[in-house]
Amino acid sequence: MSDKLVGGCQCGAVRYSIGDVLPPAYACHCGECKKQSASAFSMSIPLTYDALTVTGLPKVFETTAHSGRRKYNYFCEDCGTRLWHSGNNPPTAITLKVGTLDGSADIEPVGHLWVSKKQTGITLDPKTDQHQTQPDDVIAWRNNLGQ
Ligand SMILES: [Zn+2]
Ligand SMILES: [Zn+2]
Repeated sequence: MSDKLVGGCQCGAVRYSIGDVLPPAYACHCGECKKQSASAFSMSIPLTYDALTVTGLPKVFETTAHSGRRKYNYFCEDCGTRLWHSGNNPPTAITLKVGTLDGSADIEPVGHLWVSKKQTGITLDPKTDQHQTQPDDVIAWRNNLGQ
C-alpha cells in the first residue's frame, strides 16, 4: 500500500489507513490552524470517516469553526498529535491532517484559505486557488477542490 494512504500520530498509538484514492489537499493559514498545527499553516484532505480503518482511539475536544458551526478536533491522547476534524462526534465527514500521513512529502495543496494571515516567508504557487479568508460555503469549496 502506498505510504500516502497510511498514517498515524507521532507516538503510533493511533494508526489509520485510507481507501485507494487520496482526494486533493488544501492549506489553511488562519490563526486557529497555526495553533492546532503548532506551525505556519495546516494541510488537510477532505474524506468521509467511513473511508478510514483506524486502530487506537483518538480523544476529541470541541471548538467553534470560522463558519460558526461546532467543530470536533480529534487527537492522540498520548502524544497530542492532531489527526482529523469533523463537524460531528462521532465523526462523519472529516478533514484529515496531511502531516500525519507516512508519505506526505510530495502532497501539494491545490487551494489555500486565509491567505491574509499567511506566515511571512511562505510563498504560494500562483496557480492554486487562493482566498484571503474563506468562501461562504467552505464545505462545498473543499469538496470541489481540484475540479
Ligand atoms: Zn500518539
Ligand atoms: Zn484554518
